[in-house]
Amino acid sequence: MLQAYLGRAGLKTLCLERSRAIGGGLATIEHPRWPGYRHNIHSFFHRALDQMPWYRELELERRGASYLEPELNVALLLKSGDALCWWTDFERTVESFAQFSARDAATLTRWREAFVPILEKILGPESRRPPQHPDERRAALEKTAEGRLLLETSALSPLEFVEREFTHPVAKAGLLFFNGLREVDLRLRGFGHHIPALLASPAKAQMCVGGAARLTDALAQAVRGSGGEIRTSCEPKRMVLERGRVVGVETTEGELIRSRFLASSLNPQQTFVDLLDGPSELQENARKFEYNLLAPLFALNLVLKAPPRYRTLEKPFMVILGLERYEQFNDIVRHHEEGRIPPTVMWGACPTLFDATQAPAGGHTAFMWEKLPYRLRSGDWDSVRDAHAGEMLELWTQYAPNLADDTVGWFARSPLDTERELPNMRGGDLLVGSFANGQVGYDRPFRGAGQYRTPIEGLYLCGSSCHPGGNITGLPGYNAAQVLLADLGLSQFGPRH
Ligand SMILES: Cc1cc2nc3c(=O)[nH]c(=O)nc-3n(C[C@H](O)[C@H](O)[C@H](O)COP(=O)(O)OP(=O)(O)OC[C@H]3O[C@@H](n4cnc5c(N)ncnc54)[C@H](O)[C@@H]3O)c2cc1C
Repeated sequence: MLQAYLGRAGLKTLCLERSRAIGGGLATIEHPRWPGYRHNIHSFFHRALDQMPWYRELELERRGASYLEPELNVALLLKSGDALCWWTDFERTVESFAQFSARDAATLTRWREAFVPILEKILGPESRRPPQHPDERRAALEKTAEGRLLLETSALSPLEFVEREFTHPVAKAGLLFFNGLREVDLRLRGFGHHIPALLASPAKAQMCVGGAARLTDALAQAVRGSGGEIRTSCEPKRMVLERGRVVGVETTEGELIRSRFLASSLNPQQTFVDLLDGPSELQENARKFEYNLLAPLFALNLVLKAPPRYRTLEKPFMVILGLERYEQFNDIVRHHEEGRIPPTVMWGACPTLFDATQAPAGGHTAFMWEKLPYRLRSGDWDSVRDAHAGEMLELWTQYAPNLADDTVGWFARSPLDTERELPNMRGGDLLVGSFANGQVGYDRPFRGAGQYRTPIEGLYLCGSSCHPGGNITGLPGYNAAQVLLADLGLSQFGPRH
């Protein structure tokens, strides 16, 4: 993202990527045993990316990206066959909540209405620009009724918000599940606004036609179109400093690449400890950067003759299974803390129900994800992975019995596999750093460092360890580009005419 914007401003850019393929969390692969079946092994559910400013400004649609937003967007399927459903049409979502609790359905509407202006005027713009100092932010928020409601709500944790506002165990479970999808710890005070903000958001789960890697391809085209170069299988060994300023990198092959500035999308440990012989205070801050206990994902990917058929759902996009009551979250947290595998709660989709291009004619793919601890108290992921995948498939088959006959093959990926492939996701943390430990906004990755600049002249940060955090949003790179271009005196930002 950053590279595309710098190229548009006329700068000569080079990206170094350690893997053979670019894209990181935007990957679509084919398993060698089942050619033609495409699997999105990292991100799949992309939230309203086609409404992002960069999507439009970089003309990604013209470069081959396109998005689908299925109507029955999310369904929490219960053992009874009942389902709590989120539709792209909010009124239908309210009807679904009302089947469980009329009172909760009314609460849902009330909070949504209260938060639509908060999202439009405050939270949305905040995510698309470098963060303000917390004191200035608070002072600004205190001046308006919307700002004050935001401050009041965010003083709670998501769990406290849900417990205070909602009554039905299934409604509470569904809302807390949503909260967890964005890797916000349900116990974390300061995030009580997260659920009403999700309710207010017009952004629903989307999928990229052809697979997540199509977005990578479109971005790469934008980069190359502005003269940028991308080098794969190329890993920096160290950043080179001269008189306290970064002047380039040396690669593991021993090549010295000089540059006017560097932008690192890696986590603080990689950037400030592994690659830089910088001041000890900086290294200390980087070492203290914390990762999420509850973000690592285990993935089961299926190759199918037919899509999963659920008894009561016609064409659901995201399906949540194994979640019946909100108290299960306490149990899941405890299991993570103890390094044990909890009773399975999983979610996933069948991409080929909506996009036939992701499998050969008549074939299908589907996947389920489960949040599981990175460190197991007994055993290791390489030895327990396939057995656990088998248990997930067994559970899935209870909800979609045709999987017993229609599954042609499967493969699984553990939190350890994620970290091996994407080492910036330390401990398998797909958010690349938690929001705990004060690592939010102006103080992400650490105190006062949320402006994408670093104390080392010429060195910038642009990855998910910065504001607004991980998941596929493009916003850390988009915001970092604003800062870098401003520092270079190139104020150009936004569409070039
Ligand atoms: C199983 C799984 C499912 C997910 N599902 C979703 C989802 O549905 N929706 C969503 O929004 N997000 C999802 N995510 C999270 C999302 O993928 C990440 O938050 C996002 O990719 C982080 O972006 P990033 O650019 O900071 O890091 P990355 O995407 O990891 O990119 C970092 C890049 O740097 C490269 N790299 C790492 N170390 C070095 C080095 N030393 N030298 C050179 N290059 C290096 C990597 O190879 C990679 O290409 C998922 C993640 C996982 C693992």
